Amino acid sequence: MTDRLVEPRVPRDLHAFIAGLPKAELHVHHVGSASPRIVSELAARHPDSKVPTDPEALADYFTFTDFAHFIEVYLSVVDLIRTPEDVRLLTYEVARELARQQVRYAELTITPFSSTRRGIDERAFMDAIEDARKAAETELGTVLRWCFDIPGEAGLESAEETTRLATDDRLRPEGLVSFGLGGPEIGVPRPQFKPYFDRAIAAGLHSVPHAGETTGPETVWDALNELGAERIGHGTSSARDPKLLQHLAERRIPLEVCPTSNIATRAVATLDEHPIKEFTRAGVLVTINSDDPPMFGTDLNNEYAVAARLLELDERGLAGLAKNAVEASFMDPAGKARLAAEIDAYTSSWLAS
Ligand SMILES: [Zn+2]
Repeated sequence: MTDRLVEPRVPRDLHAFIAGLPKAELHVHHVGSASPRIVSELAARHPDSKVPTDPEALADYFTFTDFAHFIEVYLSVVDLIRTPEDVRLLTYEVARELARQQVRYAELTITPFSSTRRGIDERAFMDAIEDARKAAETELGTVLRWCFDIPGEAGLESAEETTRLATDDRLRPEGLVSFGLGGPEIGVPRPQFKPYFDRAIAAGLHSVPHAGETTGPETVWDALNELGAERIGHGTSSARDPKLLQHLAERRIPLEVCPTSNIATRAVATLDEHPIKEFTRAGVLVTINSDDPPMFGTDLNNEYAVAARLLELDERGLAGLAKNAVEASFMDPAGKARLAAEIDAYTSSWLAS
């Protein structure tokens, strides 16, 4: 990919190390992972949409002026997902792009409300994602798990619907492990979603809301205290509250850090001002993620390179970051041990060669 928003400027061999490093991705959105290749394929299936089909025009289309503009473009891509076949195609192709980056395990954030509201049959939707998940595991070697998230901007109706889809035993897909909350934070207070998170947690799902991306540390406290957050999506503003950093570090509550996304949405002004260093200095478990990679002109490998630059990491440091994601994931202990061992074996053989 050229013309990156954030140029990591790390040595070529570090890029090669990252490209081969086995990884886990914990914060990446389903529709937001639709690359220009996938979007052009979907746009061609639905010629009445406003989305360009030419990948170069798409690159321009994906240049954002602010967070509100990003949401607008995002929703126009949501509009391309109209049938169960679209859902299956998107999901499998996203897995292919993760597999290409040596992502062995990914928790993909899906907003089922966006699809069921548009008239996609809920049973067919679940079958489409599960079919893609099973095919990705067998054919690509990438294990997918789902996080169903509430689109906060769509109000409590969307919260009720998402909770129902996530907790109804007849619908709930096998790959579902967690429950989230996305969309804009300004004007969408977290505590109103407490009853929905309570139900999801009671149904055995992990709590992973976005918080502190575009609002202050009080939103992260709300996510912890009201929504039972076990990991925080972004948590960027936590750096402004030393007590919060200490709490996150002591409780081993990971942050899902997505550096390029924070620059693209203007949540952080410049990369040098990114608080990732403060997080690691405070002992917070930091994971590196890509959020909506093609929309931000990035991918997970590039985010690791950005992290290497910001945290001045060598190969061992990068392997440590990859292992943080394994620890912070909702994989079972055997799966965690296997992927951590694979990361160690890869790193040792790279350093010995
Ligand atoms: Zn996100």
